[in-house]
Amino acid sequence: MPWIDELRSTWFVGWTFCALVVGTGAVAAPLPSALVPAVAASTDPAQLLKQADGLKSANNAEFIGLLKRLDSLSPRLTQTQQTYLRYLEAWQAAYVGDFATAIPQLNAIIDDSRDVTLRFRAGVTAVNVLAIARRYEQAYARLNQMLDLLPQVSDPDARRQGLSIAAFLYNQAGQYDLGLSYANKVLVETPPGTSVCKGMQLKLEALYRSGKLQTIGNEFQNGVDACMQAGEPIFTGLIRTFIAKSDIAQGKYNDAIKLLQTNYDEVQRTHYPEVMEDVDSALAKASWEIGDSEQAQHYAQRVIDGGIKNEYTEPLVDAYEVLYRVAQKQGDYQAALAYHEKYAVADKGYLNDTTARTLAYQMVKQQVQEKKLQVNALNKQNQVLRLKQAVSAKTVEASRLTLLLLLTVLGSIAVWAYRTKLSQLKFMQLSRRDGLTGISNRHYFVDTAEIVLSLCKKSSQDACVVVLDLDHFKAVNDAHGHAMGDLVLKCAVSACEAHLRAHDLFGRIGGEEFAILMPDCIATTARQIAEKVRNAIAECHGNVDELTLPVHASFGIAASRTSGYELRQLLAHADDALYQAKREGRNRVVVHDHTKTDGLTAGTVDRRRM
Ligand code: GH3
Ligand code: MG
Ligand code: MG
Repeated sequence: MPWIDELRSTWFVGWTFCALVVGTGAVAAPLPSALVPAVAASTDPAQLLKQADGLKSANNAEFIGLLKRLDSLSPRLTQTQQTYLRYLEAWQAAYVGDFATAIPQLNAIIDDSRDVTLRFRAGVTAVNVLAIARRYEQAYARLNQMLDLLPQVSDPDARRQGLSIAAFLYNQAGQYDLGLSYANKVLVETPPGTSVCKGMQLKLEALYRSGKLQTIGNEFQNGVDACMQAGEPIFTGLIRTFIAKSDIAQGKYNDAIKLLQTNYDEVQRTHYPEVMEDVDSALAKASWEIGDSEQAQHYAQRVIDGGIKNEYTEPLVDAYEVLYRVAQKQGDYQAALAYHEKYAVADKGYLNDTTARTLAYQMVKQQVQEKKLQVNALNKQNQVLRLKQAVSAKTVEASRLTLLLLLTVLGSIAVWAYRTKLSQLKFMQLSRRDGLTGISNRHYFVDTAEIVLSLCKKSSQDACVVVLDLDHFKAVNDAHGHAMGDLVLKCAVSACEAHLRAHDLFGRIGGEEFAILMPDCIATTARQIAEKVRNAIAECHGNVDELTLPVHASFGIAASRTSGYELRQLLAHADDALYQAKREGRNRVVVHDHTKTDGLTAGTVDRRRM
């Protein structure tokens, strides 16, 4: 049974991506034409419905014809068949992008149908459509409902579609453990003889994005092989970009370039913009890293030329970053500034969309918890009421008991209200906090720092921004594994916190990069604090068990006196100083020297800050 598999129209890239992962791969090419007359000749509604379902994306024109025929046979259809037909019609509306028609029709099926599989399938389509329409909160809410239905669904294709979209959406919300767990379920439920390509792609994406890919050995190659065998060049291309990006992260730039260039033509033939721009941006980055500005510029420009209007994607952000770096290297500061502005807009747009997905996920999770608490409280109230009825006959004790019961009810309600409040507070915290270290996440740091800086400016108060980046941190991960790396990160955060002042704002702005905004502070004070933090971080070496490698960090500082009060500028100058610290041998603190930079320098352009 095919799913919304072949939607490659250009009206929505997110759609196509989403749609791809929920496909089963069972039908990728149009059915043999010999089948078509047989379909047209049949008059049995059950058979027609099944055939229409099988043709949806493989031969959409034929599918529409069948829908019309089925519509004319409508009086002969049983109630379940009528619902099936409505489902297929809703699918078609979604297929052509008519969400306004599709969504209410799908909702009606989910709410009214007695057929669990149909309800489930309508749920999958609805989640798909809602995600494309960026109605993330509704998408995650529907996904939850759908997963509740899963135990009752026995149709293997429908199950796999549901599990796939769950894996996809959890990956999208940055919940990689959940994404991985659902991808593994997809693989387990893939019957022998059906390709594991799509399940593998979901699994590898979860592993790649959670930074765990070094631990998985040659599973990448298995994924590539499975997808090649299945004739799925888009998925093959996606997996290859994971490999290439992991190579880039490990400094194996030439390996990445070789892999992507060897398969470049195959990717171009897919005409699938998401993979094409992913490949081009990885090539641009790797070329930049090996100092080949010309190729870097060429591939970055391809990302921009091929990009989809109004879509802010990660490759687009990376491409603008490469372009401004190239322009800067060539001394064309005007072009560099123009590219940087585009970069900042794209980065913020991309971050907003990512944050929206994560927030929507957290919001729905919180609502589900709240509902559970509410149900518990109501159950308790019901229990109490039943008790009350039972004892009401015993009039002597009744008044005393009633009072007791009343108090219990009130107690239950108070407990429920308290726990709801707690869970709301926890949710708010979650949206602001970095999951690993518990300090402000980048988004919250940027928002809050902007506010604090504008207040400092109004009150003519000095402020400093410190950025720090752990030195050779990748070596810690490589030598001891990711879990140990996480422990070191937590230790470094505790070391910082021990020396920060109460009103300093501390955030994790990248994997092993942190920023501190210090209000009421001049450069010399910031340097003193940074030195203390630097020494404290070095002690992590002794504080984390079994860690053999030294831990230290480099620091860059920018002060409002010389850099002004614009966060972007302060971060850029601090970044500049940080890179100077790295160049000079790491494990040191450098204060940005404004006399050495004027206008647009390496520093005025921050990397991934805003
Ligand atoms: P440099 O001194 O130039 O900063 O070198 P580096 O190795 O620290 O920098 P690089 O950017 O090459 O590597 C950063 C590493 O940080 C790579 C990435 O896997 C790791 N990392 C990022 N986030 C996390 C995380 O949450 N946990 C762990 N364990 N590692 C992470
Ligand atoms: Mg770094
Ligand atoms: Mg580092």
